[in-house]
Amino acid sequence: MLYVVVLGVPGAGKGTQAKRLSAALGLPHVSSGDLFREHIQNGTPLGIEAQRHIDRGQLVPDEATIGMVRGRLERPDAASGAILDGFPRTIPQADALEAIAKDFDATVGPAFHIRVPLERLVDRMAGRRVCREAGHVYHLAYNPPKQAGVCDVDGSELVQREDDQPETVRNRVQVYEKLTAPLVAFYRSRGVLQEVNGDQPMGAVTAEILAILGQEAAR
Ligand code: ADP
Ligand code: AMP
Repeated sequence: MLYVVVLGVPGAGKGTQAKRLSAALGLPHVSSGDLFREHIQNGTPLGIEAQRHIDRGQLVPDEATIGMVRGRLERPDAASGAILDGFPRTIPQADALEAIAKDFDATVGPAFHIRVPLERLVDRMAGRRVCREAGHVYHLAYNPPKQAGVCDVDGSELVQREDDQPETVRNRVQVYEKLTAPLVAFYRSRGVLQEVNGDQPMGAVTAEILAILGQEAAR
């Protein structure tokens, strides 16, 4: 049982790659951001609390985040593992993931660090569009829908994420540098870090990750 971790600055392409890996490996895509957005849409108490933080580009407190993700990993479809996107995002969350893995007899890693130069992010975030219905992700230039403004999968309207406004993005990148970047050293010290070049077309990034997974499996 394997928890594959996908790390990277906001806009690096974690969600994009995690979805592709999920399809290739047959493991569920577990995105803490998507889980929070589901709670917000359903108006749950956790959703109401999370929204205050998300709108400001801050992290949701660890305790609430860890509880939510643990609950998701307890579901039967994650019995063989999961592709983790956006979790962990702090050292306490990474410690909690180790504890969860211990309970479920799972291995944490590889942890893929998708590296993208900061100057690329403005463009990635400004062009990101998500569908209202299910959060399917597009990019106006790099991954456009077949029909402008309409989701290919479910036909719902494409909108810009509230937290993709430039001011909020700046906060999110600062929060990343301070709280999440230390996870790169955390996973390196455990011998499971894999650096991936995220500054290439989406299919090439996926191929790079799958090649590493193939090499690991062959060891
Ligand atoms: P994250 O989950 O890390 O925040 P996303 O996967 O949502 O990032 O990607 C951010 C935006 O950049 C999306 O609009 C996505 O379509 C686009 N994108 C993702 N990967 C690439 C890539 N390799 N090249 C160009 N655009 C990309
Ligand atoms: P994402 O969809 O991964 O870009 O996440 C959107 C927002 O949700 C983040 O900017 C945070 O406010 C919140 N969030 C997502 N995952 C976490 C996490 N692991 N810990 C704390 N906050 C999170």
